[in-house]
Amino acid sequence: MEELGRLPITQLTRCSPLYSSRPVGPQDQPDFVNAVVAVSTRLSPLALLDQLQALEQRHGRQRQRRWGPRTLDLDLLLYGERRMQTSRLTLPHPHMLERAFVLTPLADIAGHVSLAGGEDIATLACRLPDDGLRVVLP
Ligand code: ATP
Ligand code: MG
Ligand code: MG
Repeated sequence: MEELGRLPITQLTRCSPLYSSRPVGPQDQPDFVNAVVAVSTRLSPLALLDQLQALEQRHGRQRQRRWGPRTLDLDLLLYGERRMQTSRLTLPHPHMLERAFVLTPLADIAGHVSLAGGEDIATLACRLPDDGLRVVLP
């Protein structure tokens, strides 16, 4: 989170607690830890993605099996109300609505924000099964 706040022309504005949850996909791996932050930035969506991927690399990210263990995964969930679908970047993040480990921490920092369907994030988060989600660091 500190490093996100140090990206060029970017300020960290909100941070959720850290949550642990059971893994998505392969179950023969330990729980994952997830959190959501908000930044204010003048980077474009693709320039921000470049920065996030460089940060993953600096933390030793290796791409092995899909949804397998990783040191760090930095995904871009929302960029204002921007919608895009390119080979490198889909906005909003294509799986965010089905993942309690995304919507619950997102609701902590932006629960009142409405998504395209008109419902707010807190309402959408409440409807999902909880995936064993628990706060590990408030
Ligand atoms: P998931 O997308 O299911 O969370 P993942 O985060 O494990 O999977 P990665 O290996 O981190 O997947 O990323 C695969 C590719 O997804 C990246 O190379 C990136 O270009 C692309 N991508 C598309 N949309 C996004 C987004 N909104 N945020 C981050 N990466 C994205
Ligand atoms: Mg991901
Ligand atoms: Mg990713």
